[in-house]
Amino acid sequence: PQLANQIAAGEVVERPASVVKELVENSLDAGATQIEIDIEKGGSKLIRVRDNGAGIAQQELMLALSRHATSKIATLADLEQIVSLGFRGEALASISSVSRLTLTSKPETQSAAWQANAEGRDMAVQVKPAAHPTGTSIDVVDLFFNTPARRRFLRSDKTEFSHIDELIKRLALSRFDVAWTLTHNGQPVRRLPIADSPAAKQKRLAALCGRSFAEQALWIENHYGQLQLSGWLLAPAACQATAACQYSYVNGRMMRDKLLNHAIRQAYGERLPAELQPAFVLYLELDPADLDVNVHPAKHEVRFHQARLVHDFVVSALSDALAQLST
Ligand code: ADP
Ligand code: MG
Repeated sequence: PQLANQIAAGEVVERPASVVKELVENSLDAGATQIEIDIEKGGSKLIRVRDNGAGIAQQELMLALSRHATSKIATLADLEQIVSLGFRGEALASISSVSRLTLTSKPETQSAAWQANAEGRDMAVQVKPAAHPTGTSIDVVDLFFNTPARRRFLRSDKTEFSHIDELIKRLALSRFDVAWTLTHNGQPVRRLPIADSPAAKQKRLAALCGRSFAEQALWIENHYGQLQLSGWLLAPAACQATAACQYSYVNGRMMRDKLLNHAIRQAYGERLPAELQPAFVLYLELDPADLDVNVHPAKHEVRFHQARLVHDFVVSALSDALAQLST
């Protein structure tokens, strides 16, 4: 089974940032409102994610590390209407097959915390008592220590860390209701408290997209039937040649979607000279049944069942907003 895990790891674990993504998505699935990410040496030495979520019961720790053990798909109907972020049940197994992984957790109802370890081909050996507040910590040490070819493929610490930082940025722009901290080699890089007021949101937006974007972007909100679009959009006159912030989310998931990008560009139309870049943070919501999210879970791809409708809705919602701006 460990060979299968390592093969699966090739799919799930491309680089440290992909590990962080899986761990953080688990924290969000567990309802965490505070997520702390500590990185050492670009993640090749240490990736630690701590959350204050629901935790994992002692008797489920080993299970959480085994393949296809997910607590998240109860029925086929769930499969078709996936709202939860993780749904494959193999991330932890895959990650532990290419690292030394320690999982420490305490659900609120359990009096003490417990810890499980897994190291490369030796699956979780023991579960022992530990000290931990309600929530979960996962330490991933020496990523790819047993797959030297993959380890050699890692870029510099700085580059790997920049991928992690970019990921946290994207996540923090979609979850203002969660407090985030990120450190690298012990140095604080981001500290984003929960943003539950307009002023606090503005502050987070400025921290992540720059002050000028936060000050000049227009907040938009529009809907058509089940389709809903909201977010921030920069007026053409404020756009620059280099992309400032270009983030779009579909039902809460970050997407780099051709259709959406095309629609956004089309909405700016001739208002935006070709050499300038639009800047936006947009959230599209639609009925999950009108969406295939598992085209490729790791690649931010999505398939809309009614692509034309979605495209035209986005174009018209944004054109309306931009037209208002220029009058
Ligand atoms: P999946 O997320 O697809 O279910 P994973 O391998 O990522 O699969 O996680 C396996 C299981 O471990 C999850 O279904 C969940 O029950 C548990 N788990 C993992 N991380 C956490 C966490 N941070 N908090 C609570 N439970 C967790
Ligand atoms: Mg998961």
